[in-house]
Amino acid sequence: MFLAANISGQNVLLLEKMTVPGKKILLSGGGMCNLTNCDSTDDFLSSFGHKSQANFLKPALLNLTTAATRQWFGNHGLTLVIREDGKVFPASLKAQSVVDCLRRGALENKVIIKTSAEVTALVKEEGSFSIITTTNAYKSNKVVIATGGKSFESTGSDGFGYILAKSFGHRIIEPTQALTAVTLEDYALADLAGNSLRQSSVDFFRNGDMKKYKSDRGDLLFTHKGISGPVILNNSRYIQKHDLLKASLISTGNKENARIELHQAFLSDPKKKVNSIVKALGVFSGLAGLLLNSLNLSQDEKCGNLNKKKRNQLISLLLDYPFKVSRKGYFSSAMVTAGGVDLGEVDRKTMESKLSKGLYFAGEVLDIDGNTGGYNIQAAFSTAYLIASTLKKSDK
Ligand SMILES: Cc1cc2nc3c(=O)[nH]c(=O)nc-3n(C[C@H](O)[C@H](O)[C@H](O)COP(=O)(O)OP(=O)(O)OC[C@H]3O[C@@H](n4cnc5c(N)ncnc54)[C@H](O)[C@@H]3O)c2cc1C
Repeated sequence: MFLAANISGQNVLLLEKMTVPGKKILLSGGGMCNLTNCDSTDDFLSSFGHKSQANFLKPALLNLTTAATRQWFGNHGLTLVIREDGKVFPASLKAQSVVDCLRRGALENKVIIKTSAEVTALVKEEGSFSIITTTNAYKSNKVVIATGGKSFESTGSDGFGYILAKSFGHRIIEPTQALTAVTLEDYALADLAGNSLRQSSVDFFRNGDMKKYKSDRGDLLFTHKGISGPVILNNSRYIQKHDLLKASLISTGNKENARIELHQAFLSDPKKKVNSIVKALGVFSGLAGLLLNSLNLSQDEKCGNLNKKKRNQLISLLLDYPFKVSRKGYFSSAMVTAGGVDLGEVDRKTMESKLSKGLYFAGEVLDIDGNTGGYNIQAAFSTAYLIASTLKKSDK
C-alpha cells in the first residue's frame, strides 16, 4: 500500500486477497498503529534480529528515514503524535486513519486496487510475469511480492509469499514466531497476570543453565500462562522450547553488585521485616507475598530469622528468578515472523531479486524482523519506498 501511494499508478495493480487491504495495520499498536518512531537510522537498525538485517536495510532506511516517513504522512494529510518514548501514532489514535491515508494515496496515484484477489501462482515466460489469481490472470514486466510473513493468518498473511519466492529459486530462512509471549512450565505466578516488572534484567540460557546466549533488560509482564512484555517480545525471535530464562524481579544494572547490596540489606537490621525490605526494593506486594510463601517464610518474618541458606535462596530469586519455556506463542498470535526470503539473494539497493529480473520484495516477507516500537511497519515502508524510487529511476 505504501508503494502504491508512492508510484505513478498507470498500469499498476495492487492485488489483495482479503476483502479490504491493510487488515494487519488495523490491529497494529493495539488498534492505534505505531507506524514508526523517532530513532536515528543507526539506532533504528540496531533494533533488528541480526546484523545482516541491519546491513541489508541500511540503503532503504537512508532512502526513507523515520523523519522522512513522519514528513510523508504530514504531507499526505495525516497528523501524527509522538509519544514520550519516541513512538509515533496517528493523532486520531486510530489505525484506520493510516490505512485510509495509504489507500487515498494509492487511488490519487491511479493505482487500481483489486480486493478478494488471491494470487495463486506467478510464472515468468520470456521476461514477462503471468500473475494468476483465483479469478483472473494478468501480465506484467515487474512484480512486487509484499505478502507479509506467516503470523496472524487471519489478516491475510499465510506464508504464501514464501512459496512464490521459492518457485523462483529463492531460499527461505526457516520462519519462526517473533514478538510473541512465551508459555512456561510449572508456572507459579499466574495469579499475578496483568502485573509487570520495570526494567528486569533477563539472562537467556539453552541446555539448562549451561549456555547463556543473550542478556537484555526491559519491562516484563506476567500473563496467565507465562511472561511477555518488551524484554520477552523482543527476544522471542531467539527463544526455543526448554530454554531457561533468569529474570531479576528488581531493577538492577549489575547483578553481582546487587547481590552484595542485597546481603547487606537483609543483614543490616535483624528486627526489620523481610517483606518490607523486598517491597522497598520495588517488588509489588502480590509478588513479594508469593516469594516469601515459596520459601516457607511468613509474611511477618524478621530478617534476624533468615538463615544463610534462606537468605541466599531469596536473593537468588530476586536476581535470577527462573522461568522454563514450554513454548513460544503460536504463529496465530505472534506479531511478526522472523525468517523469510534470504537477504543474500535480494539487492539491498533496489529490493530486486538477484535471481529473477523484474521481481521485487518488500516488507515482512523478507528475512527481517524488528523489535516492538514501530520498527516493522517502518521497515515495510522503507523497503517499499526503495522500490518506488528504483522504478521511478528506471522509468526515466
Ligand atoms: C497484532 C499486531 C500488532 C502489531 N503492531 C505493530 C506496531 O504497532 N508497529 C509495527 O511497526 N509493527 C506492528 N506489527 C507488525 C506489522 O504490522 C507488520 O510487520 C507489517 O504489517 C508488515 O507489513 P507487510 O506489508 O509486509 O505485510 P502485511 O501487513 O501482512 O500485508 C500483506 C498483505 O498481503 C496480502 N496477501 C498475502 N498473500 C496474498 C496472496 N496470495 N494474494 C493476494 N494478497 C495476499 C495479505 O492479505 C495482506 O494484506 C504488528 C503485528 C500484529 C499482528
